[in-house]
Parts: sequence; C-alpha cells; structure tokens
Amino acid sequence: MSIEEGIDHRVDEDGIVHVVFDRPGDKVNLLTPAILREIAQLLDHLRGRADVRGLVFESAKPGVFLAGMDVEQIAAVEDAYRASEAARFGQAVFQRIADLPVPTACAIAGTCLGGGTELALACTFRVAADDPRVRIGLPEVQLGIIPGFGGTQRLPRLVGLASALDLILTGRRLDAARAARIGLVDKVVPLPYLSREVVALLRAAAEDPRGTLRSLRPRRSLGAALLESVPLLRRILLIRARRTTAARVRAADYPAPFRALDAVDAAFSTPSGQGFDVEARLVGELVPTRTSKNLIWLFKSQTALKKAVDSGAAPRKVRRIAVLGAGIMGGGISQIAADRDLPVRLKDIRYEALLSALSTAGGIWRERIRKGQIAPREVGQRMALIAPTLDDRGLALADLVVEAVVEDLAVKQKVLAAAEERIGERAVFASNTSSIPITEIAAKALRPERVVGLHFFNPVHRMPLVEVIAGQRSSPEAMATVHRFAVDLGKTPVIVRDSPGFLVNRVLMPYLNEAIRLLSDGVRIEVVDAAATSFGMPMGPFALLDQVGLDTAHHVAHVLHAAFGTRIGPTTPTLGSLIAAERLGAKNGRGFYVYRNGRRAGEDGKVYALAHAPARRDLPVETLQERLVLAMVNEAALCLEEGVGREPRDVDVAMVLGTGFPAFRGGLLRHADDLGIAVVVDRLSRLADAQGERFRPARILREMVREQRKFYPA
Ligand code: NAD
Repeated sequence: MSIEEGIDHRVDEDGIVHVVFDRPGDKVNLLTPAILREIAQLLDHLRGRADVRGLVFESAKPGVFLAGMDVEQIAAVEDAYRASEAARFGQAVFQRIADLPVPTACAIAGTCLGGGTELALACTFRVAADDPRVRIGLPEVQLGIIPGFGGTQRLPRLVGLASALDLILTGRRLDAARAARIGLVDKVVPLPYLSREVVALLRAAAEDPRGTLRSLRPRRSLGAALLESVPLLRRILLIRARRTTAARVRAADYPAPFRALDAVDAAFSTPSGQGFDVEARLVGELVPTRTSKNLIWLFKSQTALKKAVDSGAAPRKVRRIAVLGAGIMGGGISQIAADRDLPVRLKDIRYEALLSALSTAGGIWRERIRKGQIAPREVGQRMALIAPTLDDRGLALADLVVEAVVEDLAVKQKVLAAAEERIGERAVFASNTSSIPITEIAAKALRPERVVGLHFFNPVHRMPLVEVIAGQRSSPEAMATVHRFAVDLGKTPVIVRDSPGFLVNRVLMPYLNEAIRLLSDGVRIEVVDAAATSFGMPMGPFALLDQVGLDTAHHVAHVLHAAFGTRIGPTTPTLGSLIAAERLGAKNGRGFYVYRNGRRAGEDGKVYALAHAPARRDLPVETLQERLVLAMVNEAALCLEEGVGREPRDVDVAMVLGTGFPAFRGGLLRHADDLGIAVVVDRLSRLADAQGERFRPARILREMVREQRKFYPA
C-alpha cells in the first residue's frame, strides 16, 4: 500500500493490522475517494488471511486522527445522483469494516470529525487518548449536509437517540471524556499508552469478543432503552427535536438538520439496511443546494483567512499579554485569553471595573459548567490566569498589550505613551478601537511600527470575527503577531485598511440608517425588523441598535458621517433625540423597544413622536428588504473600491461573522452575485432617484456591469 495516497499498513507480531493515515504534505488527514478505495483494497487483501487477528486505524499526525471528508470534493459535486453514489460507496466500504470477522478499533489521539467519526462508528471499538486535542463529532449540518457514511444510522444505535440527535443536529464536538460518557468512546487512556492499550483490547476481543464488549460498554438506562424501543416514545422525541430545530432555523434556508431528523427516523422505522439508503438519498438532495455550497465556501474561506499573513513575516510568540481597560471589551478579551491558558495582566484605573470584569468572566465559565462543557476545577485555574491591577506592574513581561480603554484619541495616545515606557521594545501594542484610525493613535508613538489595530466584536466570547488593521507604519512582524494571536484565540481575522469605521461597522451603518429612515417614513419598528429577520438576519436593525446601545451607535454614526458625509449621516438627529429622551437601548430598559427583566416586550410607542414619524405607512416586505440590503451592498462595493476590504471573500466572511448576515446566502457580495450585478445596479439607480443620492451605485458596480463581471467568477 502506498503512503503517497496518505494511508499505509503493517501487520504486527500479534497479527494486528495497523492502518495508518498520514496525508502527505498536510497537517491534517482527510478522507478522499482515493483513500476509501485504498481501504477497500486493503480489506480485500486481508480477507481470508488466517494470521490476521484484529485491525486498528491510527494516525501518524500529532493531534489529528481523521478530520473528515475533503470539503473540496463535496463542493465539486453538482448533481444529486453523483452525491448519493459517493455516499453509498463510503457506506459500502465502512460496512465491510463492520462485517470483518476480526475485531476492529480506532485509536483516536486528536481531531476525529465527520467521515472520521463514521469510520470509528463502523469499528468494534473506539479508544481515545486523554488529550485536549481530541474532538469527536459529526459537523456535517454546519456545511449544509448530513453524515453520509452511515453516521445517522450507527450513532443512534451506539449512544442512544437523544445523545445522537444532540450531536448530529448541532454538529457539536466532544472531548474524550464527554465522548466516553455518552458511550461514543469505549475507553480513554493516556496518550503514550494509546497504541499498546488498543492492541491489548483487540487481543482480548479476539479471544472473547462478547466478554470484552460487555466489560466496556455501559448498559443503557431503562429510560433510554424504552425511548428507542417503544415507537410512540421515539416519535415524541423526534417531534420535539423537530420543533426545537424549527425554533432555531428555517427549513427553507437550512434544510440539513431537518433531513438529518428524517435519516435518524429511518434508522428505527425502516427494516435494517433501508435507513442507509434513505441517508444516501438525502445526502444527494442536500449536496447540490446553494445553502450547502455557500456554507462550504464560508468554511473554506475562514480556513484560508486563518492561514499565515501574505507578508511572510514570522509572528512573535505571545506567551503573556496585558489588557488595558477592564470594561466590556477588555474584560471579554481577558476571559478568552485565559480560556486558552494565556496569563493576562488586566489593568484599569477603577477598582470596580476590575471586579466587574472578573465577575463577568466567572459568569461565562459557570454557564459552561452548567452546560457540562468544562469541569468546576477548570474555572479556578482559568480565573487565576487573570491578574488584575490598578498600576503598571507586570506590564514589562507582556509580549502583546491590548488597549481597550474609552474611545477617545487623547486618552488612547496617553495610554500608549505610558505603556511604551514600560513594555519591552519588541512588544506589540494593539488597540481595540472601533473607529479611530490606528495611524492617528500611533502618531506620537516612540515605536509606531509596533502599533496595530485588533478590533474584537461584542460579546467577545461569542463573536468569531476580529478585524486586524495596519497603521501606516505598522511592521509586518507586528501584523503577523496579532493575526496569529487572533487565530490562537479561536477567531477568524480579516485584514482591513486603516479607515474610519474599518469594514464591518461601516457596511452595517447604512443598514441601520436605512431602518431609521423607514421609521421616519412611517413604517412600524416591528415591521422593519420582521422584514430583516425574514431575509435571514439574526435580529432586525432596531433590535440590533438597542443591543449595541443607542449612544454607542450614535457615536459611530457621527464618526462615519464626518468621514463620508450625507451618505451615512443625516439620520443621527433621530438617534440624538431618542438619547436625549433617555432611550439608550437594552442596557437601560428602553430603546426602540421596551425591555422587562432584560427581555424585549414590544415596541415603544413614544418613539414615533420622538422620531417625528408621520402616520403609519405600509410598504411591501420586498421593498423594505431591498432598501436595507442594497444599502449594505453599495457600501461594501465602495469599501472594495477603496481597498478597505482586500477582496470580496474578506467582505463576505466579515459580514457573516461580524453581523450575522445569513450564512446560507454566503455573504453580502455572493448574494449580490446571485441577484445579478446588473439587477443590483438597476435597483440602486431607481432607489437613488426615488430616495436620494446615498443609493447611487458605486463605480465598481457600474464597471462590473459594463464588463459583465461578477464578484466571484463562476
Ligand atoms: P468601557 O467603557 O466598557 O470600558 C473602558 C474601560 O477603560 C473602563 O473600565 C475605564 O475605567 C477604563 N479606562 C479608562 N482610562 C483608562 C486608562 N488610562 N488606563 C486603564 N483603563 C482605563 O468601554 P468598552 O465598550 O469596553 O470599549 C473599549 C474600547 O473598545 C473602545 O475603544 C471601544 O470603541 C472599543 N470597542 C467597543 C465595542 C463595544 O461594543 N462595546 C466593540 C468593539 C470595540
């Protein structure tokens, strides 16, 4: 067997076959049709060999077992028949593993996802290393498809219906201990003993298969067993799961979790074997959908954005950081850094801010304990990594300083000057400013080449995006350092040009503005928000404004108005009068909506008078969506024209991750491509004539129509 395809095997002295995955030239192992064929050939080759007593799948790569099917292969399939046939082939290969007369196992010492998990499910045993890199799961729904190599059939039989649905419908990944708890993994052993333990297990199983299985597998509780064997109870569980899924996503936008429920249902309700057929047919339905193509494209784009920066500069190793300002953002950044085992020196000038930051971090971790995601002892360990301080002690040790003090240029410059006196010459200073140009912050710096922008989004622990900004004099090494730091924190970094509002806030602002204009035209707050959510936005513009805080939004609108003029500004008076009437949003219980116990409780009727809105006016939902969305498309096109976003991909990923722009649409510019650029320009021109110059199509859009170009060539 050739290692060129990424798979090799040897037979040891005990007659155990070791099949080793080692994809050449890559850090991860992936399944491909070629690898599946090699496994099939190997199984042929082993058939009838009396000296073979067992088989184990292993990986030669540290921290990775098998990260699933190569997404490029899935993305390339355009028709249902081919997709179903590919699933059937994978199913057939894995079935042959399940049918082997000798015991089989997977030795899992790292990432084991999708097809990797399905391979493991086809084996007699699964043994995992007690290693933090172990992650087991079926993330297919996150790519708009379902597990297609038997996962929807074998997982529920192994771990029970409820646990299986949880994994398949959310794509959640489990660590070794949690996988063992639900019975997905039979045994967890220290990493150095993994191989030895698996061989011992296979030897024991070869002597006494039933006894070995019984000794390992926990008996399912009576309740769980009942759930699966009594059809009525099973049906109730599935109906409930369908309802919870429908409350989360719409089937028309994200069909995969609903089809996954159909496939799992078939595992129990059809005669043996037919469930696999149903699974393959449903994979065929999903693979060619636009939703799946968009989700896979976003996944690939995020992976690409996390790769090293183009300059080739080596990042500086960040061993400890300092965070200046313990407010909402500084506290959040400290929490996620401690989460990744980084020691943090957290400085504020107010004692209460430090207390509040620690208590918020504690709250996030306690919630994770409640959900069974971390153990109680881990909270203490992580909390101990955050060292609060009111003075500058300990700053000198930091490799990276993240500044998150108030949004005021003079204060930021002062804080930078004070920090430069303390920190090492090579330490990087990253500002979390949301609107002040980095070049201005660094204007008086001793070492402006060490100053960069690192813009996190609120809430820091949930929002997956950061904007990385180079000032005029930022060095490639400083940029590479913060880029790597962001990736290490689990975020996707998008590099944007140093310009007012950077990328995401700038593109979002015309959308928020347009909502306020619609309000001034007499359209109801809830009607505007409903139009946005039915387009797929996670919340409407007014709900979002309340969440951000009207004062914060007003400030950003002001900055953008100063930079870009009428296109963005004239609605700020409405925000101003609401703020003057003490409406700040969710944080003080009143904004465009009224809040009771922190929950939205209907729109605030007084807002219409404060906004000088005329009598109620109803516009078709398509008109509302067109105005809201095309305002963003045009601004995004301008950002590309000015080089604020480097390429359409960056804009799309940033908008999906930073604002919740519907992922099933693939992003703002992919959506524009789907509409057709000529249609976009035509509608923008009509809107410009009817509503005002702010809609006048960007030059780049008009050029694209002339040259018959799209943002993404086919
Ligand atoms: P915040 O008001 O919650 O916190 C700022 C903290 O800085 C306060 O605790 C204050 O005491 C402290 N501070 C002031 N001067 C200081 C000094 N000299 N040294 C140390 N600490 C000092 O503000 P925030 O919302 O966390 O925002 C911080 C920064 O992050 C701002 O630049 C803001 O624009 C940016 N930002 C905010 C958001 C958001 O949604 N809140 C999102 C992205 C970026």
